[in-house]
Amino acid sequence: MSDTIAAIATGAAVSAIGIVRLSGPEAISAAEKLFFPLSGAPLQTAESRKLIYGELRARDGALLDLCLCTISRAPNSYTGEDTAELQCHGSPAVLRAALEELFALGVRQAKPGEFTKRAFLNGRLELTAAEAVADLIDAETTEMARNAAGQLSGAIGSKTEKIYDALTDICAHYHAVLDYPDEDIEPFLLEDYRQTLANAASQLRRLSGTYRRGRYFKTGIPTAIVGKPNAGKSSLLNALLGYDRAIVTALPGTTRDTIEEKLSLGGCLLRLIDTAGIRDAEDAAERLGVERSFAAMQQAELVLALLDGTERPDEASAAVLHAAEQAKNAIVVLTKKDREDYCAFRPDTALPVIELSAVTGEGIPELENAIGALFPLPEVPAGEILTNARQAEAVQTALEYLEAAEAAMAAGETPDIVLTEAEGAMNAIGELSGRNLREDVTSRIFARFCVGK
Ligand code: GDP
Repeated sequence: MSDTIAAIATGAAVSAIGIVRLSGPEAISAAEKLFFPLSGAPLQTAESRKLIYGELRARDGALLDLCLCTISRAPNSYTGEDTAELQCHGSPAVLRAALEELFALGVRQAKPGEFTKRAFLNGRLELTAAEAVADLIDAETTEMARNAAGQLSGAIGSKTEKIYDALTDICAHYHAVLDYPDEDIEPFLLEDYRQTLANAASQLRRLSGTYRRGRYFKTGIPTAIVGKPNAGKSSLLNALLGYDRAIVTALPGTTRDTIEEKLSLGGCLLRLIDTAGIRDAEDAAERLGVERSFAAMQQAELVLALLDGTERPDEASAAVLHAAEQAKNAIVVLTKKDREDYCAFRPDTALPVIELSAVTGEGIPELENAIGALFPLPEVPAGEILTNARQAEAVQTALEYLEAAEAAMAAGETPDIVLTEAEGAMNAIGELSGRNLREDVTSRIFARFCVGK
């Protein structure tokens, strides 16, 4: 890991400012060959983390840019190594030229996530915090960004490290008992350990519970808008997309030729299932009718069941309602409230019912509230919502070991049995924080980052 890496940290688009980032033993000396402070003082002598104004020049002396440079010396830097950052004007051509000059000096292109991986390997960030860097950059909603920021500052790591330390104490003592089997564990200590295990298990149970909501932070809650042809599905979708200025992505579907759209509504990121099908509904209506809706409902975590508010209920609308009642979460939406022939019948259901108009927007805030009420955010401090499958799995495994340790203790099992279970929990927590993680797993985690992170 002793080579020096560089990358453009600010993406490929034209922007006001663009940053070339360097890390490694030659970072400062390589930067110094291209960047000449206007003060005349060599870059090597500059103070850490101070912006210096100067000229960026190619090796042949040609002026590339007037820009700023900042250096940080190991170990007090993001990566824990010597680093330099060139803050140029954001022309991709300037940034590319600077990078090419650095490559000619023996610096190599950084791989995806390599800066953050070095930060992790050098102990500057524990693993959940390193993963939060990617989550923070990728955050599509304020909630996700807030949570990632909390994790970046160590919310999960500090919580689980405390549990790890408490378990270390128990294990150390049990090891002592195993080594000196003639000594009994004193009853008050046993009670102490029982409480430590119970307390740790309850904290992990709470953390694990946050994943039920947190797992949708990134992917969005799979949502189906269903209803008979002409119920108003595409109109509602368009109204929501227009109403909600935070349309996030239009992703090409991976398995079929469909477009999936995400939007944030009521503090929830929704991923609309089979949007192309819905948009296409008028053409598809004759062919597919209500069946298409039923297929979408099967995959959905949330169903918005639309009933045309200008029509009397019939068999088909009763079928839509019935299917919505089988869904994991559903809201019934009576559409076309602005129309004169809107008759406001009350569907016979225990599900929440929202009356709205896609034309005037009336009722959309109520729909937002209803969605927010179905998917409340866990009431935990910032950063303590698990959003990552790897972390959730490690927490769940640790919890299972702890429950087994508690059961073994309650059953009066010998210390070696309690110890084995407690050590299992420690291993799982070690994987969470990256304390004992295999190299291949570490590489996989950082490979999902972008170049320059
Ligand atoms: P879909 O087949 O379920 O996607 O239904 P559409 O969204 O295509 O709507 C069917 C018809 O109802 C279209 O002519 C829409 O313009 C109309 N429509 C949908 N929603 C509203 C609404 O809220 N108010 C009024 N006045 N017309 C609507």
